[in-house]
Amino acid sequence: MKAPICEVCLKTDDILCPADEKKLQEGIISELDVKVARLLYKLIGDADVEFKKAVEAGDLVIIMVGEGDVPITIGKGGKNIKALMRELGKRIRVIESVEVKGTDDVKKLATDLLYPAGVFGVNIVYKPGGGTYYKVLVLSRDRKKLPEKAEVLESILSQIVGQEVKINFI
Ligand SMILES: [Zn+2]
Repeated sequence: MKAPICEVCLKTDDILCPADEKKLQEGIISELDVKVARLLYKLIGDADVEFKKAVEAGDLVIIMVGEGDVPITIGKGGKNIKALMRELGKRIRVIESVEVKGTDDVKKLATDLLYPAGVFGVNIVYKPGGGTYYKVLVLSRDRKKLPEKAEVLESILSQIVGQEVKINFI
């Protein structure tokens, strides 16, 4: 398994090596990344999977993995997800990580995260005082299909994208 911390740190439950501790202090990785990386390593060990990062909001944790790595991460019958839910006390979603460069990427990510609600489109909005945010358009009739509260999903999306994301019902 590839992770944002080294193999030695994956195998311990203790402190981090100086290099990984520095990443944590600089905010390149989070406490949650370290925790999820170690739990995943216990579950999937040397499987050919890349764990990229984890974000959380409300009672939801999103685990981002490399292309094609979702099924192994989830495990047979969702057994890894169930184990992670027990350990973290939160609901878990595993998604393929997306490098966000524009609205198409935000749309792909939002489509994944908001399922079974559909995403109608994504716009960039220019704020009056400068700066931009992404507006994800969802049909009002799909509001009830959102897997989580809109605020939780907005927080998750903003953390992944690294820029403000708002959900708008049309
Ligand atoms: Zn390390």
